[in-house]
Amino acid sequence: MPTLPPKHDKQLLEQRRRMKQRQRQRDKYQPLLHTARWESLRAAYRQSHPLCFRCAENGLIAASEDVHHDPPRGSKEFRERKLSGYEWDTLRAVCKKCHGEIHQQEEKDLG
Ligand SMILES: [Zn+2]
Ligand SMILES: [Zn+2]
Repeated sequence: MPTLPPKHDKQLLEQRRRMKQRQRQRDKYQPLLHTARWESLRAAYRQSHPLCFRCAENGLIAASEDVHHDPPRGSKEFRERKLSGYEWDTLRAVCKKCHGEIHQQEEKDLG
């Protein structure tokens, strides 16, 4: 019968568990983002979409700085459509501000 760890150990374990979880989340997003293939696709996409689509919807003009995936990678739809992340029609040109906001919203939506 193993004895329960003291309370502070439990907190430490919980902290480590959360750190691992975050690491896993990051790992999920890393591979694609650092491939030469993605970099060139991203550059090409931004060249043909020089403006942030989300700002444009709000009547604003902002240069595209990032390329976002829609459906988001890691989402159910992304998996179900067996997307690789390199599909031109799943890309969205966004400014950094919008990109951050989109991901915040996604995290809420994914729960
Ligand atoms: Zn924007
Ligand atoms: Zn994104």
